[in-house]
Amino acid sequence: MKTQKLTIFSLVASMTFMLLAGCGRTEETTETTVQTTIETTTAATTETTPETSAFVTYTADEYKNAGINELNSVPILMYHRIYGMTNAETQYTGGNVDKDGYNRTSEAFEADLRSYYQMGYRMMRLTDFVDGYIDVPFGYSPLILTFDDGIRDVVLSGWNDDGTPEFDPTCAIGILEKIKAEYPDYNVTATFFLNDQLFENGEENDRKVLKWMVDNGYDIGNHTRDHAKLGDCEPDEIEKQVGYMYKKLNDIIPGQYVNIVALPYGSPESISDDKPQYSKIFSGTYEGFSYTTKATLLCAWTRSYSPFVRDYNHTAIRRIRGYDNNGEYWDIEDNFNQLNNGKRYISDGDPNTIAFPDSENSSGTWLKNTFGHQVITYS
Ligand SMILES: [Zn+2]
Repeated sequence: MKTQKLTIFSLVASMTFMLLAGCGRTEETTETTVQTTIETTTAATTETTPETSAFVTYTADEYKNAGINELNSVPILMYHRIYGMTNAETQYTGGNVDKDGYNRTSEAFEADLRSYYQMGYRMMRLTDFVDGYIDVPFGYSPLILTFDDGIRDVVLSGWNDDGTPEFDPTCAIGILEKIKAEYPDYNVTATFFLNDQLFENGEENDRKVLKWMVDNGYDIGNHTRDHAKLGDCEPDEIEKQVGYMYKKLNDIIPGQYVNIVALPYGSPESISDDKPQYSKIFSGTYEGFSYTTKATLLCAWTRSYSPFVRDYNHTAIRRIRGYDNNGEYWDIEDNFNQLNNGKRYISDGDPNTIAFPDSENSSGTWLKNTFGHQVITYS
């Protein structure tokens, strides 16, 4: 005989609810937490599906068998330039094009994308992640791609008669578009963090390219005007570096860029109160244009916390460097080995609920921000 327990709760503001729980108990509360616990004992053939809420479509066993855990970690990949090369053509490890592995061969990048798909990851937008909206099918894990600097990410070959861009098939977007056609359920998307020079296809071409990108499922973010090390900048300079870039993006793709800054060199590493000038990263005005930033990204070495947990920090979101090091020292293989060994976020398929095993929040403090979602726990 086995006992399943499924608990559903949501945070509501000072309202009175009458709840009929699965065990037949009527409960009234005027507190801010509404909780429903369903215990089902499955000894024989009876399968009980909770019917207290429209969004619950799985039993505790189904959550458990799929390993659903939305308090676990999410891989946010940080790539830079993608070069049209095979791995054999570089003198460095695997698909690294340079000593530190910041740039990657097109062969390795394409293989990365196929591998993430095979491991059960599905892409989603970074901006949705920051908003706590994670829309990935039941049993699958979210994957987020980012590209910094813009160089070699979108290499334009020319324009088709219908006005659409033709890309070098070995640049990042050339490969992303190929994979998008091949795997319609992969939800191919990525966020490109740009400096003043955009993609280096010439200003006029790049302005048209940016419009095409935001209309075709890609996002554009801020990487400062001159790739500035913001941790060392005076407040006026921070406002210029960040504000100039937002103003420029707003001029090209009004309201369609994301208010996220990928910090050049991952600087500053922490946004602390004793450095008030860093507030200029998050709001300011440049040449009459006012901006706000809702999150900043580090150049970190590893997976990101779930946006729902205590240690997640939207001003220091961690990323995985897309490089090879024989499966060691936080390269792609090392990171995914760890993720696939009990560290990965596995979705319940509903972006408006947060589901996880009871044990994950045994301290009672690990779940911190629900973004207004319903919470479902199981054991
Ligand atoms: Zn950069």
